[in-house]
Amino acid sequence: MCAKWEDSIKGRKLHPESLMMGYGYKPEWSEGSLKSPIFQTSTFVFKTAEEGKAFFEVAYGLRKANEGEGIGLIYSRLNNPDLEILEDRLSLWDGAEAAAAFKSGMAAISTTMWAYLRPGDVLLYSRPIYGGTDHLANFVLPEFGITPIDFDCRDTINSIEARLTRDAPGKRVGLILIETPANPTNDLIDIAMGTELARRHSTDDHKVPVAVDNTFLGPVFQRPLDHGADIVIYSATKFIGGHSDLIAGAALGSEEMMAPVRAMRTFLGTMVGPWTGWLLLRSLETLSLRMTRQAANAARVAEFLRDHDKVLNLHYLGHLDAGHPQFELFKRQCLGSGSMIAFEIPGGEPAAFRFLNALRMVHLAVSLGGTESLAEHPASMTHADVGREEKDRLGVTDGLVRISIGVEHPDDLILDIGQALDAV
Ligand SMILES: *Cc1c(COP(=O)(O)O)cnc(C)c1O
Repeated sequence: MCAKWEDSIKGRKLHPESLMMGYGYKPEWSEGSLKSPIFQTSTFVFKTAEEGKAFFEVAYGLRKANEGEGIGLIYSRLNNPDLEILEDRLSLWDGAEAAAAFKSGMAAISTTMWAYLRPGDVLLYSRPIYGGTDHLANFVLPEFGITPIDFDCRDTINSIEARLTRDAPGKRVGLILIETPANPTNDLIDIAMGTELARRHSTDDHKVPVAVDNTFLGPVFQRPLDHGADIVIYSATKFIGGHSDLIAGAALGSEEMMAPVRAMRTFLGTMVGPWTGWLLLRSLETLSLRMTRQAANAARVAEFLRDHDKVLNLHYLGHLDAGHPQFELFKRQCLGSGSMIAFEIPGGEPAAFRFLNALRMVHLAVSLGGTESLAEHPASMTHADVGREEKDRLGVTDGLVRISIGVEHPDDLILDIGQALDAV
């Protein structure tokens, strides 16, 4: 489609908040329609056979594109106008050159893995991590000859190097995957440490990519590419979609790092469809509004929980203070504290369940980042198949509950959470 979009006035660059309503789409393509239509089509008509041939030459990399020549519309597994507009808009938030939208967050993660990991490689990844990613790393990848090696927020470059030497001597590091803040404890992982590790393990024929799952804070409150990450990944099901009504994912980065991911997506067929792509365009218009309000609500709720006698170990980024080991990293890496809260209720699983069952307005459901607040029990739900020992080490205790704060009135959130704690 069109390579050049208006994104500034009098030389001043407009913000993503302003560009979400029009960037990447021209009303004259669609009878003046203000909003982009849903291009609900599997395939696209070529004007001539010569044009079809030219589109395929570029899409399949048989020749380099000429100046200003994009990939023509061919078939909706390769590209589609709703996806292209979505990818152009997503790129603005993270300052990325290229983006790929996926059918789910797991599709974004797994496709990135297939693009960069080969049999014999090590996947170096941070823990705790999203339960699905944990399962993929520990139960699926080993069947393809890939060795998962984990680290957590207390590790250093030296301790990680020692583990690699001990558990995977001589093996190539294929990919480093970091999830920060980590689900469900909000542990922060230093992205710059990941890029330094990647630098040490890169060779002339394999630059080790650092991929960051930025689902919890991004793209409004954290921009991993600014900290040296190569690829940023999202479950767009969460804040980006933001209404708990769709499943989608995204990966973004430089043209160079994204080319293998986009190629792999074409052949695995993990792209998102036009209808979900269109819904995400609508969601992006209010992304900053929603996330800002959710974060303000979370600050109010966390303040209420801070001194509550039935609340232990409150995991909330906004309460890290200068004495905390993660405070410096938070200041350097994050632009806000987001709206994910976890805390322990004394009394283990029975107490946590009594709390969850007593909630009246906040729904008991996994997932997060939507307009409505959701609460869950990580140890028996999202992180059920993480081993006991790992859970203890990572603070995923039986009394831990996780709440994703929505856009409701903060007084009502405090009322509901307060009465549910009383019921414990
Ligand atoms: C939900 C989630 C995923 C998986 O995304 P899906 O859209 O459910 O496939 C990955 N990472 C994090 C941090 C998540 O919260």
